[in-house]
Amino acid sequence: MKNEKKVRALSLTASVLALAMGCVYPTVFIKWIVPLYAVCAAVLAVIAFLLFDALFTAKEKDKPVKPAVVGTVVYVAVLMGITPLVNNVIFGAVAPWGSVLVNTALNLIFWLVMLRLIRKQTGERFVWKPLLCVLLVVIGLPVSILTTAPNMKATGFIVLDTVENYKERMDTIDIYENTLETAVPQTQVYDMVMDHLKAPLPEGKTEKKVLVLGWDGCRADAMAMKEHRQAVDALLADGGKAYIAYCGGANYPAALTQETATMEGWTTMFTGTWGVDGHGVTGFDDVRVSKMNGFFTTAIEDGLIDSSAFCFSWSGHLKTYEDEIAYDEANNMNVAWLFSDGEEGGGGDEGTFEKALAELQKDDCPDLLFTIFEYCDYYGHTYGFWNDDPEYEEAFRLSNLTGVNLIDAVKARPTYDTEDWLILISSDHGGYVRGHGGDTLMERMMFIVTNKD
Ligand SMILES: [Zn+2]
Repeated sequence: MKNEKKVRALSLTASVLALAMGCVYPTVFIKWIVPLYAVCAAVLAVIAFLLFDALFTAKEKDKPVKPAVVGTVVYVAVLMGITPLVNNVIFGAVAPWGSVLVNTALNLIFWLVMLRLIRKQTGERFVWKPLLCVLLVVIGLPVSILTTAPNMKATGFIVLDTVENYKERMDTIDIYENTLETAVPQTQVYDMVMDHLKAPLPEGKTEKKVLVLGWDGCRADAMAMKEHRQAVDALLADGGKAYIAYCGGANYPAALTQETATMEGWTTMFTGTWGVDGHGVTGFDDVRVSKMNGFFTTAIEDGLIDSSAFCFSWSGHLKTYEDEIAYDEANNMNVAWLFSDGEEGGGGDEGTFEKALAELQKDDCPDLLFTIFEYCDYYGHTYGFWNDDPEYEEAFRLSNLTGVNLIDAVKARPTYDTEDWLILISSDHGGYVRGHGGDTLMERMMFIVTNKD
């Protein structure tokens, strides 16, 4: 065969690149480092091209490049197309290591089949080096997955963030009044607010007030991070209680009736209903408009409060509550929809904090002030929803810090002594790996902390 040298060189180069990819690609995919992911995808395509080129050269085609390009295009379409499919459809976008395994296994089969075909063309003279490189991927892949991120994040997600370990951690948290089995529904937030507003004013008090601190994507077991829990502890010290609660429409392990996601969670709290038989928001792939007005509007119409305000930074809320926002405008309702743009980097949270603080410092502050902070959700989606992740811990610390400052702002009000404040801290859903929406215990559990008995 006249091109033996070239075939050997192409095969070996492709196989060395394949080995490098086998070690790098899983880390890049699991951590979702987008620019590097693009580089990896390009290198995988180059490997495919080199192998096709080697094959057609071995077949002594006059112009091997043209069919090699066709082969590469087919490879990219089929194999690179399978990855997002596996990731999103089979693993629900929460187990990237699963799709990495599937994708790498498929690549491995592809590489081995190509080397076998090339070997067939070159006869017994085909060397063992490329084959060895490809086989070494079998060792490189698990090493890559297990050492992903300095804090062994992937290892943690796979080995440590299990239902058993979650339950064990929950058992170590001594602030909860109830257990996972007796978790209260998320609708309790609505009930607590309405019960407070309807209850007679205590002696010496002249006005009902409510502040809710919403921590988007904060898991119930985050409360194990005692060193960042001062806001919660402040409510408990005032005679409050903490409860484990569930979102998703039904307690674990019953089937979900709505996704464990943002729109569904908060809308459930605002209306006191679940999506299927109430507000109508059940899916998160498309942003749904709530069928019902929340307590921002209804509590005013019922004569329980004069004014309300909602401080938030996720633009999806503008869509979900667009009917209510339009209704409030048309009917001159005293509801302030205070949106702070800047979702990138969770940056909207500063705006949410400043707006909430400004409201609380007004002489006549809103009777019902609801705030949502995106720290935990943003850091969770970016790095992982998990106490042992330093970034998620930082998100919890920041949530706590804003909580402490807003609770202090309530207590610093000149009229605080004559106001009857209900203060709640709660979250819309938990999280698992880098997502939520599914039915794991970690996603379904959230919490409600109140300053009242
Ligand atoms: Zn959320």
